[in-house]
Amino acid sequence: MRYSGLKVIREAVTGHKGWRPAWRDPEPADYYDLVIVGGGGHGLATAHYLAKEFGQARVAVIEKGWIGGGNVGRNTTIIRSNYLLDGNEPFYEMSLKLWEGLEQDLNYNAMVSQRGILNLIHSDNQRDAFIRRGNAMILNGADADMLSTQDIKKRYPFLNTQDARFPIKGGLAQHRGGTVRHDAVAWGYARSADSRGVDIIQNCEVTGFRIANGVCTGVETTRGFIGAGKVGCAVAGNSSRLMRLANMRLPIESHVLQAFVSEGLKPVLPGVITFGAGHFYCSQSDKGGLVFGGDIDGYNSYAQRGNLPVVEDVCEGAMAIFPMLGRARLLRMWGGIMDMSMDGSPIIDKTHIDGLYFNGGWCYGGFKATPASGFAFAHLLATDRPHETATAYRFDRFEQGRMIDEKGMGNQPNLH
Ligand SMILES: Cc1cc2nc3c(=O)[nH]c(=O)nc-3n(C[C@H](O)[C@H](O)[C@H](O)COP(=O)(O)OP(=O)(O)OC[C@H]3O[C@@H](n4cnc5c(N)ncnc54)[C@H](O)[C@@H]3O)c2cc1C
Repeated sequence: MRYSGLKVIREAVTGHKGWRPAWRDPEPADYYDLVIVGGGGHGLATAHYLAKEFGQARVAVIEKGWIGGGNVGRNTTIIRSNYLLDGNEPFYEMSLKLWEGLEQDLNYNAMVSQRGILNLIHSDNQRDAFIRRGNAMILNGADADMLSTQDIKKRYPFLNTQDARFPIKGGLAQHRGGTVRHDAVAWGYARSADSRGVDIIQNCEVTGFRIANGVCTGVETTRGFIGAGKVGCAVAGNSSRLMRLANMRLPIESHVLQAFVSEGLKPVLPGVITFGAGHFYCSQSDKGGLVFGGDIDGYNSYAQRGNLPVVEDVCEGAMAIFPMLGRARLLRMWGGIMDMSMDGSPIIDKTHIDGLYFNGGWCYGGFKATPASGFAFAHLLATDRPHETATAYRFDRFEQGRMIDEKGMGNQPNLH
């Protein structure tokens, strides 16, 4: 069933009797060519591209809860491709290009809004670093624009550029960055994958892998054994727990990241702003809420809720750059589990077990990566070769010292 304006009008005048569920609720089959573990954004995108681009039809996505219940439905919805390093920038730029055509590709309104992202600059050193990053972006075909304080004042008149504790000295803008309605991304990919024959099996937890003679032949689940030609794991914050079932210890730690949304306000913030003298980022949703967040909580956890010290830290960042936020009431806050890798960059790779593949280590930046991650993982699963933009995302980079460390922090997952 295709969605269109005409369809909405036809349904409106015929009593809305023609809508069908956006995806089926099938019983698991005994065997699939490909089983994807994890019905988050990355797992569902992988299924969509496997079916659409690589002609794979016997595919299942196995989700322990409900699709969209993980980080894909918990993030602050920011998309961008403003990375510095060669291993990352082409991949994230491919993702941004896929976002730009996503709604047509999926026939689904995901509210892709290229309202722009602005990284504020507060020191001369930071300006140098952002100019370098902007140049790297342009060299990789992305857009980047260095804005002066006057340019910023025109677009965001409420920002204190003069006598604030951290005066604003300019900014790096990516006008093609922006926001996307996060849970619509999960629903859109699910609907498209389902319409191409993929089985989306919810309320089905993977509890083990069946591995014999170094080959993975399927997954044990709470709904029985499901045989598979290949198994791809994309469970984000649960990566280390899941892969432990295959006796793998990952270069990943799980940490909580919290997000916040204020009561609905009149339009005040036209784009996404990040504060450069602390960790704080903010955008305004179409409903009017200011959506914001900051650092991870900094201790290892699998709990989808955070603690007060980081709430205070995020609010301090907000008040430093955005004092008027202090007058808005907080509507909701929540947490998600982040799969923090040792260098802050992801892994899309085969494992040492034949037929078992891994996608994870997205830290707190995996939402923007969803389309490229799905495409690259589908490419790897279908062809056994890494996609050209994801050749650096291998397990053995840690062994070989080929880190992709955007922040230059070293192997400190809680700092990336
Ligand atoms: C508060 C917050 C803010 C964020 N903000 C941004 C942002 O602005 N921009 C950005 O780019 N990124 C952001 N992120 C990061 C981004 O959301 C994640 O990196 C990304 O969503 C992870 O991929 P996913 O969507 O596949 O994960 P998930 O949606 O978490 O999917 C994984 C799924 O695997 C399932 N699962 C786990 N174990 C099993 C099992 N044993 N069997 C079956 N299923 C299993 C889970 O239930 C879950 O549904 C943010 C994250 C959080 C929490």
